[in-house]
Amino acid sequence: MAEFDTPTLKPYPEIPPIEIGVMAHSKPYVAKEDIQQKIGFPGELIDNWQQVAIDKMGELVNNSRALRVFLDSCVKCGACTDKCHYYLGTSDPNNMPVARQDLFRSVYRRYYTLAGKYFPRLVGARDMDQGVIDEWYSYFHQCSQCRRCSVYCPYGIDTAEISMAAREIMDTIGVGQKYCNEIIGKAQTIGNNLGLPEPALADTLEGLEEDIEEETGVTVRMPLDVKGADILLITPSADFFAEPHVDGLIGYAKVFHQAGMSWTLSSYASEAANFGMFIGSYENMQVLALRIREAALELGVKRIVFGECGHAWRVAYNFLNTLAGPFDFLDSRYPMPQHICEVTYDLLQRNALKMDPSANDDMVLTFHDSCNIARGSRMGDFEGGQFVIPREVIKASCNHFVDMPADTTQEATFCCGGGGGLLTDDLVELRVKGALPRMEALKQVVDHHGVTHLAAICAICKSQFSKILPYYGFEMDQVVSIHQLVSNAIQLGGEQ
Ligand code: SF4
Ligand code: SF4
Repeated sequence: MAEFDTPTLKPYPEIPPIEIGVMAHSKPYVAKEDIQQKIGFPGELIDNWQQVAIDKMGELVNNSRALRVFLDSCVKCGACTDKCHYYLGTSDPNNMPVARQDLFRSVYRRYYTLAGKYFPRLVGARDMDQGVIDEWYSYFHQCSQCRRCSVYCPYGIDTAEISMAAREIMDTIGVGQKYCNEIIGKAQTIGNNLGLPEPALADTLEGLEEDIEEETGVTVRMPLDVKGADILLITPSADFFAEPHVDGLIGYAKVFHQAGMSWTLSSYASEAANFGMFIGSYENMQVLALRIREAALELGVKRIVFGECGHAWRVAYNFLNTLAGPFDFLDSRYPMPQHICEVTYDLLQRNALKMDPSANDDMVLTFHDSCNIARGSRMGDFEGGQFVIPREVIKASCNHFVDMPADTTQEATFCCGGGGGLLTDDLVELRVKGALPRMEALKQVVDHHGVTHLAAICAICKSQFSKILPYYGFEMDQVVSIHQLVSNAIQLGGEQ
Protein backbone atom coordinates (compact mmCIF):
# COMPACT_ATOMS: atom_id res chain seq x y z
CA MET A 1 0.00 0.00 0.00
CA ALA A 2 1.32 3.45 -0.93
CA GLU A 3 1.52 6.13 1.77
CA PHE A 4 -1.60 8.24 1.69
CA ASP A 5 -4.93 8.23 3.45
CA THR A 6 -7.77 6.42 1.76
CA PRO A 7 -10.85 8.65 1.86
CA THR A 8 -13.59 7.66 4.28
CA LEU A 9 -16.78 6.29 2.76
CA LYS A 10 -19.77 8.40 3.74
CA PRO A 11 -23.42 7.37 3.62
CA TYR A 12 -24.09 10.05 1.00
CA PRO A 13 -21.72 11.99 -1.31
CA GLU A 14 -20.24 15.19 0.08
CA ILE A 15 -18.68 18.03 -1.89
CA PRO A 16 -15.33 18.61 -0.19
CA PRO A 17 -13.93 22.01 0.76
CA ILE A 18 -11.09 22.92 -1.60
CA GLU A 19 -7.43 22.23 -0.74
CA ILE A 20 -5.30 24.17 -3.22
CA GLY A 21 -2.43 22.23 -4.81
CA VAL A 22 -2.94 19.12 -2.71
CA MET A 23 -2.46 16.85 -5.75
CA ALA A 24 0.20 18.90 -7.55
CA HIS A 25 2.74 16.19 -6.69
CA SER A 26 0.81 13.51 -8.57
CA LYS A 27 2.54 12.89 -11.90
CA PRO A 28 3.12 9.71 -13.89
CA TYR A 29 6.65 8.69 -14.92
CA VAL A 30 7.91 10.47 -18.02
CA ALA A 31 8.63 8.33 -21.09
CA LYS A 32 12.30 7.79 -21.95
CA GLU A 33 13.80 8.56 -25.35
CA ASP A 34 13.39 5.13 -26.93
CA ILE A 35 9.73 4.86 -25.92
CA GLN A 36 8.94 8.29 -27.35
CA GLN A 37 10.82 7.80 -30.60
CA LYS A 38 9.27 4.40 -31.25
CA ILE A 39 5.86 6.03 -31.67
CA GLY A 40 6.98 9.09 -33.60
CA PHE A 41 7.61 11.70 -30.89
CA PRO A 42 10.83 13.54 -29.90
CA GLY A 43 12.87 11.62 -27.30
CA GLU A 44 13.17 14.57 -24.90
CA LEU A 45 12.13 18.20 -24.49
CA ILE A 46 13.11 19.88 -27.76
CA ASP A 47 15.00 23.21 -27.88
CA ASN A 48 12.30 25.45 -29.36
CA TRP A 49 9.53 23.69 -27.44
CA GLN A 50 7.54 26.81 -26.56
CA GLN A 51 6.98 27.80 -30.19
CA VAL A 52 6.31 24.21 -31.25
CA ALA A 53 3.74 23.82 -28.46
CA ILE A 54 2.00 27.08 -29.41
CA ASP A 55 1.95 26.08 -33.10
CA LYS A 56 0.60 22.63 -32.27
CA MET A 57 -2.15 24.21 -30.19
CA GLY A 58 -3.10 26.38 -33.17
CA GLU A 59 -3.11 23.36 -35.46
CA LEU A 60 -5.38 21.37 -33.12
CA VAL A 61 -7.79 24.26 -32.66
CA ASN A 62 -7.94 24.86 -36.42
CA ASN A 63 -8.55 21.19 -37.13
CA SER A 64 -11.27 20.71 -34.53
CA ARG A 65 -14.20 23.09 -34.43
CA ALA A 66 -15.40 21.26 -31.31
CA LEU A 67 -12.17 22.05 -29.47
CA ARG A 68 -12.40 25.72 -30.44
CA VAL A 69 -16.02 25.91 -29.26
CA PHE A 70 -15.11 24.22 -25.98
CA LEU A 71 -12.36 26.77 -25.42
CA ASP A 72 -14.46 29.80 -26.38
CA SER A 73 -17.83 29.07 -24.80
CA CYS A 74 -17.39 28.46 -21.05
CA VAL A 75 -19.41 31.02 -19.06
CA LYS A 76 -18.08 29.92 -15.66
CA CYS A 77 -21.51 28.88 -14.47
CA GLY A 78 -19.97 26.32 -12.12
CA ALA A 79 -22.33 23.45 -12.99
CA CYS A 80 -19.41 21.10 -13.62
CA THR A 81 -17.37 21.90 -10.52
CA ASP A 82 -18.61 19.04 -8.33
CA LYS A 83 -19.04 16.46 -11.10
CA CYS A 84 -15.51 15.08 -11.41
CA HIS A 85 -14.61 12.05 -9.30
CA TYR A 86 -11.03 13.31 -9.01
CA TYR A 87 -12.19 16.55 -7.43
CA LEU A 88 -14.63 14.73 -5.13
CA GLY A 89 -11.90 12.31 -4.10
CA THR A 90 -8.93 14.69 -3.80
CA SER A 91 -10.37 18.18 -2.93
CA ASP A 92 -7.84 19.76 -5.31
CA PRO A 93 -9.65 22.60 -7.14
CA ASN A 94 -7.55 22.04 -10.26
CA ASN A 95 -9.51 18.81 -10.58
CA MET A 96 -12.73 20.75 -11.06
CA PRO A 97 -13.41 20.36 -14.79
CA VAL A 98 -13.66 24.10 -15.43
CA ALA A 99 -10.34 24.70 -13.68
CA ARG A 100 -8.70 21.87 -15.62
CA GLN A 101 -9.97 23.41 -18.85
CA ASP A 102 -8.60 26.80 -17.79
CA LEU A 103 -5.08 25.39 -17.50
CA PHE A 104 -5.31 25.02 -21.28
CA ARG A 105 -7.71 27.86 -22.06
CA SER A 106 -5.51 30.50 -20.42
CA VAL A 107 -2.64 29.67 -22.82
CA TYR A 108 -4.99 29.43 -25.81
CA ARG A 109 -6.30 32.91 -24.95
CA ARG A 110 -2.79 34.35 -24.85
CA TYR A 111 -1.90 33.31 -28.39
CA TYR A 112 -5.19 32.83 -30.22
CA THR A 113 -7.54 35.59 -29.04
CA LEU A 114 -7.24 39.31 -29.64
CA ALA A 115 -7.89 40.23 -26.03
CA GLY A 116 -5.30 37.74 -24.81
CA LYS A 117 -2.66 39.10 -27.17
CA TYR A 118 -3.10 42.73 -26.10
CA PHE A 119 -4.51 42.56 -22.57
CA PRO A 120 -3.41 39.20 -21.22
CA ARG A 121 -3.86 40.06 -17.56
CA LEU A 122 -7.38 41.32 -18.07
CA VAL A 123 -8.54 38.01 -19.53
CA GLY A 124 -6.42 35.67 -17.42
CA ALA A 125 -4.13 34.72 -20.32
CA ARG A 126 -0.78 33.03 -19.58
CA ASP A 127 2.45 32.59 -21.49
CA MET A 128 3.49 29.09 -22.46
CA ASP A 129 6.34 28.40 -20.03
CA GLN A 130 7.86 25.61 -17.95
CA GLY A 131 5.38 26.20 -15.13
CA VAL A 132 2.50 25.63 -17.54
CA ILE A 133 3.96 22.37 -18.80
CA ASP A 134 4.58 21.15 -15.22
CA GLU A 135 1.00 21.93 -14.26
CA TRP A 136 -0.35 20.35 -17.45
CA TYR A 137 1.68 17.20 -16.91
CA SER A 138 0.28 16.82 -13.44
CA TYR A 139 -3.39 17.75 -13.94
CA PHE A 140 -3.99 16.47 -17.47
CA HIS A 141 -2.88 13.14 -16.02
CA GLN A 142 -5.58 13.52 -13.38
CA CYS A 143 -8.38 13.41 -15.96
CA SER A 144 -9.58 9.98 -17.05
CA GLN A 145 -11.36 11.49 -20.06
CA CYS A 146 -14.60 10.07 -18.71
CA ARG A 147 -16.81 12.92 -20.03
CA ARG A 148 -19.04 13.02 -16.94
CA CYS A 149 -18.54 16.78 -16.66
CA SER A 150 -19.82 17.32 -20.20
CA VAL A 151 -23.19 15.77 -19.31
CA TYR A 152 -23.82 18.52 -16.75
CA CYS A 153 -22.36 21.45 -18.72
CA PRO A 154 -25.12 23.51 -20.36
CA TYR A 155 -22.84 23.94 -23.37
CA GLY A 156 -21.69 20.32 -23.51
CA ILE A 157 -18.05 21.32 -23.03
CA ASP A 158 -16.05 18.11 -23.06
CA THR A 159 -12.96 18.31 -20.84
CA ALA A 160 -11.82 14.94 -22.20
CA GLU A 161 -11.14 16.54 -25.60
CA ILE A 162 -9.11 19.31 -23.97
CA SER A 163 -7.20 16.77 -21.95
CA MET A 164 -6.38 14.76 -25.08
CA ALA A 165 -5.21 17.92 -26.86
CA ALA A 166 -2.93 18.85 -23.94
CA ARG A 167 -1.35 15.39 -23.92
CA GLU A 168 -0.83 15.51 -27.68
CA ILE A 169 0.92 18.88 -27.39
CA MET A 170 3.16 17.55 -24.61
CA ASP A 171 4.07 14.49 -26.70
CA THR A 172 4.87 16.73 -29.65
CA ILE A 173 7.49 18.64 -27.65
CA GLY A 174 8.97 15.45 -26.15
CA VAL A 175 7.16 15.20 -22.80
CA GLY A 176 5.25 11.90 -22.96
CA GLN A 177 3.82 9.57 -20.36
CA LYS A 178 5.75 6.31 -19.90
CA TYR A 179 2.79 4.01 -19.20
CA CYS A 180 0.69 4.90 -22.24
CA ASN A 181 3.46 5.40 -24.74
CA GLU A 182 5.33 2.21 -23.87
CA ILE A 183 2.10 0.24 -24.32
CA ILE A 184 1.33 1.91 -27.65
CA GLY A 185 4.80 0.96 -28.90
CA LYS A 186 4.38 -2.66 -27.81
CA ALA A 187 0.96 -3.02 -29.39
CA GLN A 188 2.23 -1.58 -32.66
CA THR A 189 5.17 -3.94 -32.95
CA ILE A 190 3.86 -7.14 -31.36
CA GLY A 191 0.11 -6.75 -31.70
CA ASN A 192 -0.96 -6.42 -28.07
CA ASN A 193 -0.34 -4.29 -24.99
CA LEU A 194 1.33 -7.11 -23.10
CA GLY A 195 3.89 -7.93 -25.76
CA LEU A 196 2.59 -11.52 -25.97
CA PRO A 197 4.04 -13.14 -29.10
CA GLU A 198 2.09 -15.74 -31.12
CA PRO A 199 3.56 -18.88 -29.44
CA ALA A 200 2.75 -17.57 -25.95
CA LEU A 201 -0.75 -16.64 -27.04
CA ALA A 202 -1.34 -20.05 -28.63
CA ASP A 203 -0.07 -21.73 -25.47
CA THR A 204 -2.35 -19.64 -23.25
CA LEU A 205 -5.42 -20.43 -25.34
CA GLU A 206 -4.59 -24.13 -25.35
CA GLY A 207 -4.34 -24.03 -21.55
CA LEU A 208 -7.76 -22.35 -21.33
CA GLU A 209 -9.32 -25.00 -23.59
CA GLU A 210 -7.96 -27.67 -21.22
CA ASP A 211 -9.35 -25.82 -18.19
CA ILE A 212 -12.83 -25.61 -19.72
CA GLU A 213 -12.81 -29.27 -20.67
CA GLU A 214 -11.68 -30.27 -17.20
CA GLU A 215 -14.43 -28.19 -15.62
CA THR A 216 -17.33 -28.96 -17.95
CA GLY A 217 -16.37 -32.15 -19.79
CA VAL A 218 -17.07 -30.30 -23.05
CA THR A 219 -14.48 -29.39 -25.67
CA VAL A 220 -14.77 -25.67 -26.28
CA ARG A 221 -12.30 -24.26 -28.81
CA MET A 222 -10.27 -21.06 -28.47
CA PRO A 223 -9.25 -20.79 -32.13
CA LEU A 224 -6.29 -18.69 -33.22
CA ASP A 225 -5.51 -17.51 -36.78
CA VAL A 226 -8.13 -19.76 -38.37
CA LYS A 227 -8.58 -18.70 -41.98
CA GLY A 228 -12.16 -18.73 -43.24
CA ALA A 229 -13.75 -18.36 -39.77
CA ASP A 230 -16.91 -16.24 -39.79
CA ILE A 231 -16.07 -14.01 -36.83
CA LEU A 232 -12.86 -12.26 -35.82
CA LEU A 233 -12.90 -11.58 -32.09
CA ILE A 234 -10.84 -8.56 -31.06
CA THR A 235 -10.48 -8.50 -27.31
CA PRO A 236 -8.31 -6.70 -24.73
CA SER A 237 -5.15 -8.70 -24.10
CA ALA A 238 -5.91 -8.62 -20.36
CA ASP A 239 -8.59 -11.19 -21.25
CA PHE A 240 -5.80 -13.70 -21.91
CA PHE A 241 -4.45 -13.79 -18.38
CA ALA A 242 -5.84 -11.33 -15.83
CA GLU A 243 -8.58 -12.03 -13.31
CA PRO A 244 -11.53 -11.65 -13.72
CA HIS A 245 -10.99 -10.83 -17.41
CA VAL A 246 -10.03 -14.36 -18.44
CA ASP A 247 -13.32 -15.71 -17.08
CA GLY A 248 -15.03 -13.33 -19.48
CA LEU A 249 -13.04 -14.71 -22.42
CA ILE A 250 -14.11 -18.21 -21.42
CA GLY A 251 -17.69 -16.92 -21.45
CA TYR A 252 -17.36 -15.57 -25.02
CA ALA A 253 -15.98 -18.95 -26.16
CA LYS A 254 -18.87 -20.79 -24.54
CA VAL A 255 -21.41 -18.48 -26.21
CA PHE A 256 -19.85 -19.03 -29.65
CA HIS A 257 -19.66 -22.76 -28.95
CA GLN A 258 -23.28 -23.18 -27.93
CA ALA A 259 -24.56 -21.04 -30.79
CA GLY A 260 -22.43 -23.04 -33.22
CA MET A 261 -20.68 -19.94 -34.52
CA SER A 262 -17.32 -20.15 -36.26
CA TRP A 263 -14.84 -17.67 -34.84
CA THR A 264 -11.16 -16.95 -34.37
CA LEU A 265 -8.73 -14.72 -32.58
CA SER A 266 -5.79 -13.18 -34.46
CA SER A 267 -2.19 -13.22 -33.27
CA TYR A 268 -1.49 -10.19 -35.50
CA ALA A 269 -4.36 -8.07 -34.13
CA SER A 270 -4.49 -9.44 -30.60
CA GLU A 271 -5.49 -6.24 -28.83
CA ALA A 272 -8.78 -4.37 -28.62
CA ALA A 273 -7.38 -1.57 -26.45
CA ASN A 274 -6.15 1.46 -28.33
CA PHE A 275 -4.17 3.78 -26.06
CA GLY A 276 -3.61 6.18 -28.96
CA MET A 277 -6.95 7.71 -27.97
CA PHE A 278 -5.72 8.54 -24.47
CA ILE A 279 -2.87 10.64 -25.84
CA GLY A 280 -5.08 12.23 -28.51
CA SER A 281 -2.93 10.82 -31.32
CA TYR A 282 -4.90 10.03 -34.48
CA GLU A 283 -1.78 8.62 -36.14
CA ASN A 284 -1.10 6.17 -33.33
CA MET A 285 -4.75 5.15 -33.11
CA GLN A 286 -4.69 4.45 -36.81
CA VAL A 287 -1.72 2.07 -36.68
CA LEU A 288 -3.63 -0.33 -34.41
CA ALA A 289 -6.91 0.10 -36.27
CA LEU A 290 -5.19 -0.86 -39.52
CA ARG A 291 -3.86 -4.06 -37.92
CA ILE A 292 -7.47 -5.09 -37.28
CA ARG A 293 -8.42 -4.42 -40.88
CA GLU A 294 -5.39 -6.34 -42.18
CA ALA A 295 -6.13 -9.32 -39.91
CA ALA A 296 -9.78 -9.40 -41.02
CA LEU A 297 -8.76 -9.39 -44.68
CA GLU A 298 -6.01 -11.96 -44.19
CA LEU A 299 -8.31 -14.35 -42.31
CA GLY A 300 -11.25 -13.74 -44.66
CA VAL A 301 -13.78 -13.23 -41.85
CA LYS A 302 -17.32 -11.94 -42.35
CA ARG A 303 -17.85 -10.20 -39.01
CA ILE A 304 -15.76 -8.38 -36.39
CA VAL A 305 -16.80 -8.62 -32.74
CA PHE A 306 -15.19 -6.73 -29.84
CA GLY A 307 -14.77 -8.18 -26.34
CA GLU A 308 -15.38 -6.40 -23.04
CA CYS A 309 -13.36 -3.17 -23.07
CA GLY A 310 -14.69 0.37 -22.63
CA HIS A 311 -12.36 2.66 -24.52
CA ALA A 312 -11.70 -0.02 -27.16
CA TRP A 313 -15.42 -0.06 -27.89
CA ARG A 314 -15.45 3.73 -28.11
CA VAL A 315 -12.60 3.67 -30.64
CA ALA A 316 -14.27 0.83 -32.54
CA TYR A 317 -17.76 2.33 -32.49
CA ASN A 318 -16.82 5.92 -33.24
CA PHE A 319 -13.59 5.85 -35.17
CA LEU A 320 -12.79 2.46 -36.72
CA ASN A 321 -14.43 3.22 -40.05
CA THR A 322 -12.70 6.58 -40.31
CA LEU A 323 -9.35 5.15 -39.22
CA ALA A 324 -9.32 1.95 -41.25
CA GLY A 325 -12.51 1.68 -43.30
CA PRO A 326 -14.37 1.02 -45.42
CA PHE A 327 -15.20 -2.43 -44.14
CA ASP A 328 -17.26 -3.23 -47.22
CA PHE A 329 -15.69 -6.70 -47.45
CA LEU A 330 -17.63 -7.85 -44.36
CA ASP A 331 -21.15 -9.32 -44.30
CA SER A 332 -23.46 -6.32 -44.59
CA ARG A 333 -26.17 -8.01 -42.51
CA TYR A 334 -24.19 -7.37 -39.33
CA PRO A 335 -23.31 -3.99 -37.86
CA MET A 336 -19.65 -3.16 -37.98
CA PRO A 337 -18.27 -3.44 -35.40
CA GLN A 338 -20.35 -5.55 -33.01
CA HIS A 339 -19.96 -5.81 -29.27
CA ILE A 340 -19.89 -9.24 -27.66
CA CYS A 341 -22.82 -8.15 -25.46
CA GLU A 342 -24.84 -7.43 -28.61
CA VAL A 343 -24.05 -10.93 -29.89
CA THR A 344 -25.04 -12.59 -26.61
CA TYR A 345 -28.14 -10.39 -26.20
CA ASP A 346 -29.30 -11.27 -29.71
CA LEU A 347 -28.82 -14.99 -29.05
CA LEU A 348 -30.71 -14.69 -25.76
CA GLN A 349 -33.58 -12.91 -27.51
CA ARG A 350 -33.80 -15.82 -29.93
CA ASN A 351 -33.58 -18.45 -27.17
CA ALA A 352 -30.39 -19.77 -28.73
CA LEU A 353 -28.57 -20.02 -25.39
CA LYS A 354 -29.52 -22.43 -22.61
CA MET A 355 -29.08 -20.54 -19.36
CA ASP A 356 -29.44 -21.48 -15.72
CA PRO A 357 -29.23 -18.23 -13.75
CA SER A 358 -29.28 -20.14 -10.46
CA ALA A 359 -25.63 -21.00 -11.20
CA ASN A 360 -24.88 -17.48 -9.93
CA ASP A 361 -27.10 -17.70 -6.85
CA ASP A 362 -24.08 -17.25 -4.59
CA MET A 363 -23.89 -13.64 -5.79
CA VAL A 364 -26.03 -10.51 -5.56
CA LEU A 365 -24.91 -8.39 -8.48
CA THR A 366 -24.73 -4.75 -9.31
CA PHE A 367 -23.36 -3.22 -12.52
CA HIS A 368 -20.79 -0.51 -13.13
CA ASP A 369 -21.49 1.36 -16.41
CA SER A 370 -18.12 2.09 -17.97
CA CYS A 371 -17.67 5.72 -19.05
CA ASN A 372 -16.59 5.08 -22.62
CA ILE A 373 -19.56 2.83 -23.25
CA ALA A 374 -22.10 4.91 -21.32
CA ARG A 375 -21.10 8.36 -22.60
CA GLY A 376 -18.77 7.72 -25.51
CA SER A 377 -20.62 5.18 -27.66
CA ARG A 378 -23.74 3.06 -27.91
CA MET A 379 -24.92 -0.51 -28.41
CA GLY A 380 -27.71 -2.10 -30.39
CA ASP A 381 -30.15 -0.34 -32.68
CA PHE A 382 -32.16 1.57 -30.07
CA GLU A 383 -31.48 4.61 -27.92
CA GLY A 384 -29.92 3.70 -24.58
CA GLY A 385 -28.93 0.23 -25.82
CA GLN A 386 -25.59 0.60 -24.07
CA PHE A 387 -27.46 0.67 -20.73
CA VAL A 388 -30.11 -1.94 -21.50
CA ILE A 389 -28.11 -4.63 -23.29
CA PRO A 390 -25.43 -5.32 -20.64
CA ARG A 391 -28.12 -5.35 -17.91
CA GLU A 392 -30.28 -7.78 -19.87
CA VAL A 393 -27.30 -10.10 -20.33
CA ILE A 394 -26.60 -9.94 -16.59
CA LYS A 395 -30.25 -10.54 -15.68
CA ALA A 396 -30.40 -13.57 -17.97
CA SER A 397 -27.36 -14.94 -16.13
CA CYS A 398 -28.31 -14.37 -12.50
CA ASN A 399 -31.36 -14.13 -10.26
CA HIS A 400 -30.24 -11.29 -8.01
CA PHE A 401 -29.48 -7.92 -9.56
CA VAL A 402 -29.69 -4.45 -8.01
CA ASP A 403 -28.70 -1.17 -9.65
CA MET A 404 -26.65 1.42 -7.79
CA PRO A 405 -28.26 4.88 -7.17
CA ALA A 406 -29.53 6.49 -10.37
CA ASP A 407 -27.26 9.54 -10.13
CA THR A 408 -24.24 7.21 -10.33
CA THR A 409 -25.31 4.93 -13.21
CA GLN A 410 -25.95 5.04 -16.95
CA GLU A 411 -25.16 8.51 -18.35
CA ALA A 412 -24.32 9.75 -14.84
CA THR A 413 -21.95 6.89 -14.10
CA PHE A 414 -18.79 7.62 -12.13
CA CYS A 415 -15.43 6.58 -13.54
CA CYS A 416 -13.70 3.63 -11.87
CA GLY A 417 -10.81 6.04 -11.22
CA GLY A 418 -8.27 4.34 -13.50
CA GLY A 419 -9.44 5.14 -17.04
CA GLY A 420 -7.91 7.40 -19.67
CA GLY A 421 -4.37 5.99 -19.44
CA LEU A 422 -4.04 6.36 -15.67
CA LEU A 423 -4.04 2.66 -14.74
CA THR A 424 -0.47 2.68 -13.55
CA ASP A 425 1.04 2.14 -10.12
CA ASP A 426 2.81 5.52 -10.20
CA LEU A 427 -0.70 7.05 -9.95
CA VAL A 428 -2.10 4.76 -7.28
CA GLU A 429 -2.98 7.58 -4.88
CA LEU A 430 -5.01 9.31 -7.59
CA ARG A 431 -6.65 6.03 -8.57
CA VAL A 432 -7.71 5.23 -5.02
CA LYS A 433 -9.00 8.73 -4.28
CA GLY A 434 -10.71 9.02 -7.67
CA ALA A 435 -12.64 5.83 -7.00
CA LEU A 436 -14.35 7.35 -3.95
CA PRO A 437 -17.72 8.24 -5.57
CA ARG A 438 -18.04 4.79 -7.14
CA MET A 439 -17.10 3.09 -3.86
CA GLU A 440 -19.71 5.16 -1.96
CA ALA A 441 -22.40 4.11 -4.44
CA LEU A 442 -21.28 0.50 -4.15
CA LYS A 443 -21.40 0.64 -0.37
CA GLN A 444 -24.99 1.85 -0.49
CA VAL A 445 -26.18 -1.25 -2.36
CA VAL A 446 -23.94 -3.50 -0.27
CA ASP A 447 -25.43 -2.11 2.96
CA HIS A 448 -29.05 -1.85 1.84
CA HIS A 449 -29.46 -4.69 -0.66
CA GLY A 450 -26.81 -7.22 0.28
CA VAL A 451 -24.87 -6.79 -2.98
CA THR A 452 -21.82 -9.04 -3.01
CA HIS A 453 -20.34 -8.45 -6.49
CA LEU A 454 -19.79 -5.68 -9.00
CA ALA A 455 -20.03 -6.68 -12.67
CA ALA A 456 -17.98 -4.66 -15.13
CA ILE A 457 -17.70 -4.53 -18.89
CA CYS A 458 -14.28 -2.97 -19.33
CA ALA A 459 -10.77 -4.39 -18.95
CA ILE A 460 -9.49 -1.21 -17.30
CA CYS A 461 -12.41 -1.02 -14.83
CA LYS A 462 -11.86 -4.66 -13.86
CA SER A 463 -8.14 -4.15 -13.23
CA GLN A 464 -8.74 -0.90 -11.38
CA PHE A 465 -11.40 -2.41 -9.09
CA SER A 466 -9.28 -5.48 -8.36
CA LYS A 467 -6.58 -3.10 -7.15
CA ILE A 468 -8.59 -0.51 -5.22
CA LEU A 469 -11.48 -2.47 -3.69
CA PRO A 470 -9.27 -3.60 -0.76
CA TYR A 471 -8.39 0.02 0.06
CA TYR A 472 -12.08 0.54 0.86
CA GLY A 473 -12.55 -2.64 2.86
CA PHE A 474 -13.92 -4.80 0.03
CA GLU A 475 -12.32 -7.94 -1.45
CA MET A 476 -10.43 -7.76 -4.75
CA ASP A 477 -12.47 -10.66 -6.18
CA GLN A 478 -15.76 -8.83 -5.72
CA VAL A 479 -15.44 -7.59 -9.30
CA VAL A 480 -16.58 -9.94 -12.08
CA SER A 481 -16.81 -9.89 -15.88
CA ILE A 482 -20.28 -9.87 -17.44
CA HIS A 483 -19.37 -12.90 -19.55
CA GLN A 484 -18.03 -14.62 -16.45
CA LEU A 485 -21.65 -14.65 -15.25
CA VAL A 486 -22.71 -15.91 -18.68
CA SER A 487 -20.00 -18.57 -18.47
CA ASN A 488 -21.27 -19.77 -15.10
CA ALA A 489 -24.90 -19.86 -16.22
CA ILE A 490 -24.63 -21.32 -19.71
CA GLN A 491 -25.52 -25.01 -19.90
CA LEU A 492 -23.12 -26.67 -22.29
CA GLY A 493 -23.70 -30.05 -23.83
CA GLY A 494 -27.33 -29.32 -24.66
CA GLU A 495 -28.84 -28.54 -28.01
CA GLN A 496 -26.71 -26.43 -30.35
S1 SF4 B 1 -13.61 14.20 -18.26
FE1 SF4 B 1 -14.00 13.10 -16.32
S2 SF4 B 1 -11.99 13.05 -15.31
FE2 SF4 B 1 -11.89 14.66 -16.90
S3 SF4 B 1 -12.48 16.55 -15.85
FE3 SF4 B 1 -14.37 15.68 -16.74
S4 SF4 B 1 -15.25 14.48 -15.06
FE4 SF4 B 1 -13.09 14.85 -14.52
S1 SF4 C 1 -20.49 23.71 -16.71
FE1 SF4 C 1 -19.62 24.27 -18.71
S2 SF4 C 1 -19.97 26.48 -18.91
FE2 SF4 C 1 -20.28 25.95 -16.74
S3 SF4 C 1 -18.26 26.29 -15.76
FE3 SF4 C 1 -18.33 24.13 -16.36
S4 SF4 C 1 -17.39 24.06 -18.41
FE4 SF4 C 1 -17.93 26.22 -17.99
